[in-house]
Amino acid sequence: MDSNDFILGGYAKAPESIDHFSINSSYDLFIGGRWVKATQQFKTTNPANDQVIAEVGLAGKKEVNQAIKAARKAYESVWSKMPAADRGKYLFRIARLLQERARQFAVVESLDGGKPIRESRDVDVPLAAAHFFYHAGWADKLSYAFPGAKPKPIGVIGQIIPWNFPLLMAAWKIAPALACGNTVVLKPAETTPLSALMLAQLIEDADLPPGVVNIVTGAGETGQALVEHPGIDKIAFTGSTEVGKHIRKAIAGSGKRYTLELGGKAANIIFEDAPINEAVEGIINGIFFNQGHVCCAGSRLFVQESIADQVLRKLKKRIGTLIVGDPLDKNTDIGAINSREQLDRIKSLVKIGKEEGAQLWQSDQRIPRKGNWFKPTLFTQCAQSHRIVQEEVFGPVLAIQTFRTPKEAIAKANNTPYGLSGGVWTDKGSKAFQMTSSLNAGVVWANTFNKFDPVSPFGGMQESGIGREGGLQGLRAYCNLEL
Ligand code: NAD
Ligand code: MN
Repeated sequence: MDSNDFILGGYAKAPESIDHFSINSSYDLFIGGRWVKATQQFKTTNPANDQVIAEVGLAGKKEVNQAIKAARKAYESVWSKMPAADRGKYLFRIARLLQERARQFAVVESLDGGKPIRESRDVDVPLAAAHFFYHAGWADKLSYAFPGAKPKPIGVIGQIIPWNFPLLMAAWKIAPALACGNTVVLKPAETTPLSALMLAQLIEDADLPPGVVNIVTGAGETGQALVEHPGIDKIAFTGSTEVGKHIRKAIAGSGKRYTLELGGKAANIIFEDAPINEAVEGIINGIFFNQGHVCCAGSRLFVQESIADQVLRKLKKRIGTLIVGDPLDKNTDIGAINSREQLDRIKSLVKIGKEEGAQLWQSDQRIPRKGNWFKPTLFTQCAQSHRIVQEEVFGPVLAIQTFRTPKEAIAKANNTPYGLSGGVWTDKGSKAFQMTSSLNAGVVWANTFNKFDPVSPFGGMQESGIGREGGLQGLRAYCNLEL
């Protein structure tokens, strides 16, 4: 064993094996139950070493049109007419196959997107399966879901997802849509298309009727072609606020329905009576795991003044133990930044943070030389007006401020155009309730952070979006309710 085996954090390497399945060198588009060659291709890389993993199809207007036509045909001839219990059976089958293939999905998610295998293995893949199970259960019980109303499917749904939770976002989109009798055309993000394509293979193996799920890969132009196509009845989008606004303008007046899950700048608020060690873990979990590539990341920390020094000391110590490196190593806490472009965006905002006068702190752990990496970073001495406090960095960067009273914490936390999520840490139940009901955010966690369950609706207020995913609210977004 050479000394390199011990470079990261003093642990021996524990790489996840990748020899239990194979990744194709190229993937076509999944349209109408067939694999269709696109006119053009593009490459997806591994952000941990910049190596090309596979070539995938670049869907243009022609292919998007083909996919929408296939979805319409499947909607009208099969899926919307099928007994609901049968739709449920297909969804259960997808859920079970996902569990069976969990290991390979976890590996592909980490290879293509850079997230630690621990995250993809323990969070992304099980939650994706859970979403299919949950919605499979609803398929034949929809008539009980909304008392007094009769749920009908909407039609063909265009779905566009980002790169931070590629498989999970695909599950969030596809499972409820199918349960309610809709058919879909889904476009994964251009840096992480592989898990959605593997899901297409799985759906093929599950024998879903052709055209119920169509997967088209490509970048913004492919997404735009999907949004603008007159053949879709609804668009479900997760991604940046900027593109979300663009989509809303593009479909204004078209009668298309939409849900938008956009960016966030969550406040994580720690009171002096909080369990400090648990809160420190919650801060770490909130912003550093998954490289801060989380829309609901706790990217702003508010600490009560009396405990600020103590929390900061413990936080720095804990950050020093985080292992940054190979996403496929089971010890890794912080993987690779998803793309060079995203890394540049993080670097530029951090530079602005320093220029605007905030105090930067980074731990002294080493990071790999090749690939895209960013050390866990803290900013203190932050002002409300600083761009690192106002803008979504989407990286492992935490802006810290202090407060004295709950009122001050609420005022500061709500001083943002976003409103996706938040966290409160306190020993006092009444304070937790006061805070959670005063924060302008779709989701607020108390004494925990980044917890997800298919039963619980998720979504934003203000510039963080419109609509909910998950739970009954999420189900409702995929139905027309006849009274
Ligand atoms: P993005 O909004 O550009 O991309 C999200 C998805 O939309 C991708 O599939 C992309 O191909 C597609 N898209 C891009 N332009 C489009 C258009 N004009 N019409 C239709 N679809 C289009 O997000 P990004 O480039 O991946 O990252 C940019 C920023 O977005 C990040 O820095 C981060 O702040 C934020 N972001 C948020 C989330 C979230 O879950 N809320 C996820 C990823 C990124
Ligand atoms: Mn990739």
